[in-house]
This record gives sequence, C-alpha cells and structure tokens, in this order.
Amino acid sequence: MKQQLTLSNKRPKTITILGKTYQLPIYLPDATLGVVRGLSSSQVSQTGIQGVVINTYHLMTTPGTEVLDAVGGIKKFMNWQGLTASDSGGFQLFSLIHKNPKLGKIIDDGVVLYSGEKQQKKTLFTPENSIQVQFSIQSDIKICLDDFSPIDASPKRLKESVERTISWAKRCKIEFEKQCKIHGFTKENRPLLLAVIQGQRDYDLRRYCGEELAKIGFDGYGLGGWPFDEAGNFDYEMCRVNAEASPSEALRFALGIGSPENIVQLRAMGYDIFDCVLPTRDARHQRLYTFAKDPKTIDFSKDEKWYEYLYIGRGLLATDHSPVSSWCDCETCSNYSRAYLHHLFQVKDNLAFSLATTHNLHFYAKLMELLQKKSEI
Ligand SMILES: [Zn+2]
Repeated sequence: MKQQLTLSNKRPKTITILGKTYQLPIYLPDATLGVVRGLSSSQVSQTGIQGVVINTYHLMTTPGTEVLDAVGGIKKFMNWQGLTASDSGGFQLFSLIHKNPKLGKIIDDGVVLYSGEKQQKKTLFTPENSIQVQFSIQSDIKICLDDFSPIDASPKRLKESVERTISWAKRCKIEFEKQCKIHGFTKENRPLLLAVIQGQRDYDLRRYCGEELAKIGFDGYGLGGWPFDEAGNFDYEMCRVNAEASPSEALRFALGIGSPENIVQLRAMGYDIFDCVLPTRDARHQRLYTFAKDPKTIDFSKDEKWYEYLYIGRGLLATDHSPVSSWCDCETCSNYSRAYLHHLFQVKDNLAFSLATTHNLHFYAKLMELLQKKSEI
C-alpha cells in the first residue's frame, strides 16, 4: 500500500551533532569493522554518503578499546569526517546465542558469553559495557543495549524482552550521562543516545515500550525487531506503529532498513535515519541500482516504477559500452562502461567490488537528496 509523503511539521529536517549539521533523512551504509568494504573513507565520502554505522561488538573484539582509546576513536582511526552511529553490540550477541545456545544466555544483568574449550569461561556484557565501548569508539550516535526478541518468541518471552529493554535503557542512560561528564561533554554539545523499541507484532506492548522509554527520555528511538511477516513480506504496519509509539520531536532510526522502496515508505512515516547492508552487499553480488527515469521527475506519491536493477554479470552486457546508468554521475558511471565492469567481475578483480559499491552508494545518496528536497516543501 502506498503511503502519502506528507510529513508532520514536527519532523526534524537537519540534525546537529557535536557542531556538525546533517540533512535528514540520512542513509548510513555499514562499515561494520570500521570500513565500508572495498572503499577508502574518502571514496565513500565522494559518493555523497554522509555517515556510516559501525559495529560495537566487532570493534570491541578487533582492534579493541585500547587501540581506539589511544587513537582517539573510530573517526580518527578510519580518517572519516562524516557521521558515525554505533550499534549496541546486542544484535550480534543475540544472533550468536540464538544459533547456538551453548555460547551464552541472556539474564537481567546482561548477556553472558561462554568461551574456552569446554565453554567454561564466562564473560558478562552489560548495558553499561555497551555504552563504555561506544564512548571508546567515540561515535556521534550511540544506541542502548536492548533485548532483541526472535520472531517466534512466546508472549511471555516477548513481555520479558520489552521489560528488559526498558530496564537496560534506564541503565544505559545513567552510564551515558556518567561518561558524558567523564569526557567533558555538556548537555548542549554531546553525542546522542537512542533507545530501541521492541514488542514485535504485539502492538500494545510496542506502544507501552515506546511510552516507557519516552519517560526516561532519549534523543531518538529505533525500530526494534524483525520487520517481515511470516510470509516474508515487509511489515509496514509494524513500522507505522513503531513510529507512532515514539515521540514526534525525537529522531526515528529505522534500524537495518532497507530497500529504496522501504526507505521512501518509511520516510513518509517520519523515519529520519536508515542503515542497511543491501546496496553494498548487492554491489558485491553484481546487482546494481538504477533510476528508471530522470530522478528530477520522480514523484514518489505516484504508483510508478522509479528504480530498477541492473545485473551486471549478464552476458548481454559484455558488449554494452554505455555507463551503468545515464542518470548517474558517480565515479564509476563517469569513467567506465557496463562492459568494463562486467569484465572486472568476470576476471574477479577487487576493482569490480569497489566500482559497483561506489555506484550503489551514490544511488542511495541521491535518493536521500531527493527525499531531503521533498521534506523542504
Ligand atoms: Zn553510477
């Protein structure tokens, strides 16, 4: 179902964090380990991308907080001038435990991890730890550790996950304020802290979670849970309930979303920040995004096809000397043909990944630009 792209006047159009202003909406590709795979930070910046998401759990493991503290945070480490958001590290831990319950368990204190030969070594990762590591990372946007409930969770487990998410968010806020003092941040000039709303498809529970988190007070609220229904269809209704469950003046972060179509629809619901692996992962799998018409003429409220996929590995393209997209002025489209990119994938050269990723990120950056203009109306 199409959403009307009419935004509430209360939606923020820009966000200023630590002295730097960013236009909204903003899309953040994954730089999980402190790198957008295959691209240097300056190459990422040249695509028009304004920010990246990095992964707290992975960075805590490698290079570790000692290295990050010594260098002065991830931005300096990867020489990145744009926005950085760090996740809480929770999602990786829960996926790990969900796949193999022998590796750990979730308790009220935090996440217990078992390691060593007979899983005899125990380590506890708490909401406080998550915030402390995010201060070592020195990200602009930090996210509270939440209890992610699997899609097949029982009502009892779902309720438990929501209560724990609220209680952990309280602890994260206390630790965040403590760390802000330690690092000399003032109330007016400090990083942002976002909480995540859980509750899956129990909408009363999701609304309750949003209300309780709003009482604690955060700079923004994230879309928690799995946004697909049992049949694998994208669940716009859940996203809408989640948006309505968060205070209208706060930032809304659509965690892990999404396809270009998802982003357009969720922007209409007032989501401001998106992060997703799709454009970078698709690029490595030879799937490129192109506008179906001149982007200046796209009307998102019309039911028309405005983007399509180009499968660069298709044999037909071996002799196609046109650029990937005639509507694109990225580094790849300005300098190379479809045939050359097809050839690079054929010979499995790393340049294929870099050029394809560059193009897809530029497409997402351009999409944000179109939506930002829409917000100005
Ligand atoms: Zn391009």
